[in-house]
Amino acid sequence: MAGVLTAAVWDVAVVGAGPAGAVTAYAAARRGLSVILLDKATFPRRKVCGCCLNAHALSALAAVGLGDLPHKLGAVPLTRVALAAKGRTATLPQVGSVSLSRDAFDGALIRAATDAGANFRQGVAVKLGGRDAGVWHLDAGGPVRARQLVDASGLNGRLLNPDPVVSPTARLGAGTVIDYPAGDYARGTIYLGAGRGGYVGLVRLEDGRLDVAAAFDAAHVRASGSLAAAADAVLREAGMPTLPLNAPWKGTPPLTRRSQQIAGPGWFAVGDAAGYIEPFTGEGMAWAVAGAASLAPLLALPDGEAVAAAWRGAYRKHVVARQYPCRAIAAVLRAPRLCGVVVQVLQGWPAAAGPVVRQLNRPLTASLRGI
Ligand SMILES: Cc1cc2nc3c(=O)[nH]c(=O)nc-3n(C[C@H](O)[C@H](O)[C@H](O)COP(=O)(O)OP(=O)(O)OC[C@H]3O[C@@H](n4cnc5c(N)ncnc54)[C@H](O)[C@@H]3O)c2cc1C
Repeated sequence: MAGVLTAAVWDVAVVGAGPAGAVTAYAAARRGLSVILLDKATFPRRKVCGCCLNAHALSALAAVGLGDLPHKLGAVPLTRVALAAKGRTATLPQVGSVSLSRDAFDGALIRAATDAGANFRQGVAVKLGGRDAGVWHLDAGGPVRARQLVDASGLNGRLLNPDPVVSPTARLGAGTVIDYPAGDYARGTIYLGAGRGGYVGLVRLEDGRLDVAAAFDAAHVRASGSLAAAADAVLREAGMPTLPLNAPWKGTPPLTRRSQQIAGPGWFAVGDAAGYIEPFTGEGMAWAVAGAASLAPLLALPDGEAVAAAWRGAYRKHVVARQYPCRAIAAVLRAPRLCGVVVQVLQGWPAAAGPVVRQLNRPLTASLRGI
């Protein structure tokens, strides 16, 4: 460990200590690489998120040896999804997912990385210097040098992809975590309400607080006057219990986007920094962890275009291929009338959701298992 802390040139610098960065750092350190993990925030930090880890995310964690972690943190097993639109609610069975606060989850992943030997520095906004003779030069409140650079800087990150391709119809993300009396929103159920201006998801966390996460059209937020009012309007239209209007909401930039490049000689983007689509199906952390799990082995190889190409291929296989059903569901949600019809059909025939649920909970491919 002492040798790692004093490394003049790190094998790997990971920028961003969310799930993508922390799991990359953890898995790379376990392979014997010297790793520095850097984040501009001080943890726990506020992160807009639905806080649901689905079966894909849980199997990706298991693939890197962290399968027990959600359970140890008291994650809440989720057994039902209540989908509401136009005053109707369909309740569907849900298996294999849990809710867990980002404070607890992200903190535990960072601890796993440091326990594996990674060095972690928080409260340092990283700026890119350049690359010289195969070594990256970073400014992280002091110079940091590394042979490989992993951009895990999330949706807001601009480290290696200053100009992501943002969908012209992308919605804005928003969220809050509140103390909300038990009753209306029960533990173990994911509540999803869809309306004309967007949708709102609610779930109880392990400590009893209510996590609220939403995607709104920018015009809906402008017309409503605030994120809280935008959520209120969607919940009322869906026919769901409303929330206190003084909740401390936080917003995100437009959600659906992709980076122009996700790899090059000596660098890789992973997690939201590589690309993201609307989060209705709660998959982002699964993509982040599965991506990190498939990236880590490549970091041990000599860098070059062949390794960058290998990461592009792995990313297509383990992340992009899984995003298609999410895009399809997001499209249905954009048509409120169609969404109302879907809820009506599911009220009478919940099994109709089976193929979609099975697709979303499809296990990892064999190539990722056992990494
Ligand atoms: C409304 C909403 C609901 C969602 N619901 C779910 C859900 O239920 N389930 C699910 O699986 N996913 C969900 N997601 C997606 C999920 O939150 C993300 O996909 C996930 O956090 C991506 O992890 P990441 O590590 O790539 O990025 P992040 O978790 O965003 O971490 C990036 C980190 O990089 C740091 N950083 C950025 N720039 C710099 C810099 N220059 N220097 C140093 N550090 C930097 C940031 O401080 C941050 O800590 C939701 C997202 C939204 C917006």
